[in-house]
Amino acid sequence: MQCQRCNGMMISERFYGPGDPFWGWRCFRCGEILDPIILENRSHCAILAVEWHKGTAQREKREERKRQGQVGEKKTAQVPVNGAHL
Ligand SMILES: [Zn+2]
Repeated sequence: MQCQRCNGMMISERFYGPGDPFWGWRCFRCGEILDPIILENRSHCAILAVEWHKGTAQREKREERKRQGQVGEKKTAQVPVNGAHL
């Protein structure tokens, strides 16, 4: 992915806004942020955004399945024992 402003390299990043977290792109060089909504608003990128949405949904589903598959890994919380109180 290349930045449309400065042609710098863009990295996919998870953004946490007021709504649900979403995947977007951030430019390393100028800090330009692209999210699926911005891409949708740019009509020439509408098809790309739709395809991207599909890919994101599939990726989330895959991650969800992976998470559910991790049954054997149990985290036990270590509770400090304060037995000796002076
Ligand atoms: Zn840029």
